[in-house]
Amino acid sequence: MDSAYLHNSVFNIELKRRVLEQQKLTRSEVKRWFEENYRVFSKKSAFTCLCCNKPVNMNLTIEEGSPFYFRHNDESECSSPENTRTYDRYVSKLEDKSKKDIHLTIFREILEGELKHYDVEIERGFHYKKKLSFIPDFIIKFPHSDERWAIDYFTAIDQGLISGSYARHLSTRMKTYKEEGFKPFSFVDYSWLSFLEETNKGTLLTAETYVTSKTHEDDLWDKFLEKKVHGELLNFFTKAKGSTLKEFNTRNIAYVDVLNRLCTIFRFLPISQHGRL
Ligand SMILES: [Zn+2]
Repeated sequence: MDSAYLHNSVFNIELKRRVLEQQKLTRSEVKRWFEENYRVFSKKSAFTCLCCNKPVNMNLTIEEGSPFYFRHNDESECSSPENTRTYDRYVSKLEDKSKKDIHLTIFREILEGELKHYDVEIERGFHYKKKLSFIPDFIIKFPHSDERWAIDYFTAIDQGLISGSYARHLSTRMKTYKEEGFKPFSFVDYSWLSFLEETNKGTLLTAETYVTSKTHEDDLWDKFLEKKVHGELLNFFTKAKGSTLKEFNTRNIAYVDVLNRLCTIFRFLPISQHGRL
């Protein structure tokens, strides 16, 4: 893990390493700097795990490119190491790792800003105090309530397009979140937004259909459309769109442009054409 508590605040060893390396320090100089400034805290068990609060040791590797990290003396009672391994495996296999690494730092800042009046606790998914089979990017906990949100930012929604493996992964991920008592919120990287203003149509990959949601506003739209669009108007609507629309099922999907701090929510009616959405 790259972070630990030190004196009641979070110390991110990788962030600090990167700052020092940007100052043109060599790997051995960086390592020496950590030894001189922080080894004594590690020896005094002052670094503690964000998940279980037990002491963790500072580990510094001399090899260029290897991360610095904290490790438990005994990890048997902590879910964090295994959750971290599950998360890292998923990110390196199914996500755009470098994009995700950079953007999640900003994403967290945005979340903190947006939710600052709600007194919520925002933590990385892998620090959750229970072993999880799917690890969200962030978990949000609310005071005086059992409500927990699982927040995900998806960077490579086209993974496994031919085999459908990523779509199946997302389907199971969302089902598992719900079984574990999480309310899932998904954000897709803005680069995947495909919408034509001329026709008012967009294309959703099967994987994207699993990260759409249905909220109160969507229900209101369904009621409105059912009331207003029927008979000949409905016939015209389905024929003109060449669709197989049988019922109104308004849904929405959120795209996020992290660097510009913009979120676009598309509300749409799914219509299938030649088996595609
Ligand atoms: Zn721990």
